[in-house]
Amino acid sequence: MTEERSNNFLEEIIETDLAAGKYPDGIQTRFPPEPNGYLHIGHASSIHLNFSLAQKFGGKCNLRFDDTNPSTEETEYVDSIENDVRWLGYQWDNKFFASDYFSQLHAFAVHLIERGLAYVDDSTSEEMAAQKGSTHEPGVNSPYRDRSIDENLRLFEEMRQGVYPDGAKVLRAKIDMAHPNLLLRDPVMYRIKHAHHHRTGDTWCIYPMYDFAHGQSDSLEHVTHSICTLEFIHHRPLYDWFIEQLGIYPSHQYEFARRNLTYTVMSKRKLLQLVNEGHVSGWDDPRMPTVSGMRRRGYLPEAIRQFCEESGIGKRDNIVDVGRLEAAVRDHLNQTAPRRMAVLDPLKLVITNYPAGQTELLSIENNPERPETGSREVPFSNELWIEREDFMETPPKKFFRLGPGLMVRLKGAYIVRCEDFVKDPSGQVTEIHCTYIPESKSGSDTSGLQPKGTIHWVNAATAIEAEVRLYDRLFRVENPADESGDFKEYLNPDSIESVTAYLEPALADATCDYTDGIARYQFLRKGYFAVDTDSTPDAMRFNRTVGLKDSWARTAVKS
Ligand code: ATP
Ligand code: MG
Repeated sequence: MTEERSNNFLEEIIETDLAAGKYPDGIQTRFPPEPNGYLHIGHASSIHLNFSLAQKFGGKCNLRFDDTNPSTEETEYVDSIENDVRWLGYQWDNKFFASDYFSQLHAFAVHLIERGLAYVDDSTSEEMAAQKGSTHEPGVNSPYRDRSIDENLRLFEEMRQGVYPDGAKVLRAKIDMAHPNLLLRDPVMYRIKHAHHHRTGDTWCIYPMYDFAHGQSDSLEHVTHSICTLEFIHHRPLYDWFIEQLGIYPSHQYEFARRNLTYTVMSKRKLLQLVNEGHVSGWDDPRMPTVSGMRRRGYLPEAIRQFCEESGIGKRDNIVDVGRLEAAVRDHLNQTAPRRMAVLDPLKLVITNYPAGQTELLSIENNPERPETGSREVPFSNELWIEREDFMETPPKKFFRLGPGLMVRLKGAYIVRCEDFVKDPSGQVTEIHCTYIPESKSGSDTSGLQPKGTIHWVNAATAIEAEVRLYDRLFRVENPADESGDFKEYLNPDSIESVTAYLEPALADATCDYTDGIARYQFLRKGYFAVDTDSTPDAMRFNRTVGLKDSWARTAVKS
């Protein structure tokens, strides 16, 4: 499948077009979302593709809201889409709305009626479906197909004026009921919908169908390369037919395969169900494949762009391993995220030979990948928190952490040896007692001891208590949309775990600002974490963005 994963086929088409002198004013692309939901990673691929092609060839890329369906579209979605596109790092040349063209589209429709190329049909949708025929048999003409031009003009005007209820009539293109492509068997151009539109209000009660809006909008904007996903391939002849009959600017449609990702679903309709039925906390739940969910989870826009670039586009449907996206996120965070210490499953460690009441400040580097980011001071005293899993009562061989008699280095601090431990009546270890080696301080160690393990820790007296959320795949199976039955049956019941963690005090001023890079950290040995949008100085909350290593088997691209 690798050869399918490049942007090349579109780049080649554009190069050929430009070489032939077809577009002296440069190329123009557009990203055309319908504002009926939040953007997901599939949209990010389309955004990246359209904007980067325009950039590469010195053209323009517009943002166009395809808002022709008043019942599902909302201003909230428009705002979130603009915000997401900008956050991903793209700036559109122009912002358009298909609804701005409603008058023009209506005039186009009247023009086609006048030329005998469109008619008003009173058939019900069931009747029209029955007339349609199939791939094996031609369709049959509607009894209303031969209405006169005058009658059609009058009826279409009455439709516009609100004389008829929803569904009573439609406007259809008069093409060919025996056309081998079913989409050209007199497709519906306009339907009646008495619904309030998020921008045009109640001005209209007839709305154009996708096929009679998209290509015309492209044409009005002089889009040269109109890139869409594969399911529209059969619409292309219709796209061309309308443009040709109207004699308007010849935009051209090109198709690429949708971006699918393992362990999630990628359709706004399905994502909306997850939101509405409470399976997630909202469109920006950090488990969602939405741009807003990924942002909240701590993904960097650079990493998402890199993923889109590297996974490219295909001509055949494929599903990309989410591990590739996570690997890109991890690579970027490794470079940029300051290192901090946080204990997610705390066990008390008491240093019996360190003076009680004494605190010293240890200087620990912020990011070994970027020494220029300097270091921070971390308090250390006789009572610390360590991870419960870093102690074992009866450790096996090669356990290079703590157990009776075992030694480890505390990161950036001293070497300690475990002398003893305390249990509660239920048998749970509640505290371990260690001695420290005073001359083993990191940076000036003269102890000559070289324990194999280094563990992270947090000073108990100055620890910040915080809620930390750990995430797993939202679904249990690779491609839930492909399974039998309801996709929601495949939700992973353990996709979120919340723990109370102890953080080092340097994290006290961590705020949720996704633009300057300070909201994301590496918690040593535990992964990358981002401050949650709901975090407050008094009740801090972090999301695990991604683990330090890929704990899932990684495969390339699956067909
Ligand atoms: P969904 O099925 O998720 O609702 P859609 O295609 O209806 O998606 P639109 O808002 O109409 O969503 O899409 C805007 C643009 O993004 C279109 O050009 C569409 O082809 C593209 N797009 C949508 N989903 C994907 C995807 N999974 N991969 C690549 N491009 C996509
Ligand atoms: Mg759509």
